[in-house]
Amino acid sequence: MGERKGTNKYYPPDYDPKAGGLNKFLGTHALRERARKIHLGIIIVRFEMPYNIWCEGCNNHIGMGVRYNAEKTKIGMYYTTPLYQFKMKCHLCDNHIVIKTDPGNLEYVIVSGARRQENRWDPTQNEQIVPETKETQKRMFDDSMFKLEHGSEDKSSYESAKPRLIQLFNRNESNWSDDYSANQRLRQIFRKQNYDVKQAVSQDNVLLKKSSLDIPLLAETEEDKKMASLLSLKLKPSKDITENTESLRRKIISTSSLPTSNFSIAKEIKAVKFLSSCTTKKDLGIVKRSHCASTPPETSKKPKLSNSLVGDYGSDSESD
Ligand SMILES: [Zn+2]
Repeated sequence: MGERKGTNKYYPPDYDPKAGGLNKFLGTHALRERARKIHLGIIIVRFEMPYNIWCEGCNNHIGMGVRYNAEKTKIGMYYTTPLYQFKMKCHLCDNHIVIKTDPGNLEYVIVSGARRQENRWDPTQNEQIVPETKETQKRMFDDSMFKLEHGSEDKSSYESAKPRLIQLFNRNESNWSDDYSANQRLRQIFRKQNYDVKQAVSQDNVLLKKSSLDIPLLAETEEDKKMASLLSLKLKPSKDITENTESLRRKIISTSSLPTSNFSIAKEIKAVKFLSSCTTKKDLGIVKRSHCASTPPETSKKPKLSNSLVGDYGSDSESD
């Protein structure tokens, strides 16, 4: 052991006290080979694995308490406490495991090269049944009063858990008492899923054939649809001001200038039909004049119009 060599008291015959201590005289460090990387700020120590880990190089389990020669370096400070980092080679492969101290949480933290096996939970918290500790077992053996109290505690915890247990039992019973129909239901669900999958695959194949592609397609999501619709909207040219005014003009032309209160399209069509039918009549001039003045059909039943016109328009407006 290197450490011990530093403390031996053998002074060789050629030792000169002017050189200083024995180590200085021999040109060695007190820690010998453990200090061979001291110029890099590294000393080699024996490091014991603080918990169970899995090596990331060989995926082997390394148990708590396995010891390694680790390179110890100081990497910083936590208030006045130094932070140390330990680097060691896995004994089963060439992977290096790096672990550092975490004085804030009184813990060791894996920096790289391994995964921690998580068993830090409190088993009583998720209502697991925890075996009694040695201490409790001993006390139950010695202390009959403690044993009695412990027994009554167990009974009360059983009583409190009973309704939930019954509920769970009943639920299981109702699900699995008729295993034939349960199986049938399950197979029905599977059949539908199978059908859906086959349908999707055939649709994908059609799509791939259409676009001459040979790539795996992912399932369509709602977001994809949204994005696609947004893209298609973007591609549409937006209407500019001239187009807007043109469409507004067309709208104004297509709508009637007559008052909307006593105007109907049916009435207008009838009037136009009538007018076109009587273009050959001798009272064409009157009709044309009344039409061009764009007077409403109701106002044209004035005494100055001919009788036939008045009768026709009048009967129409009266029927309304
Ligand atoms: Zn390994």
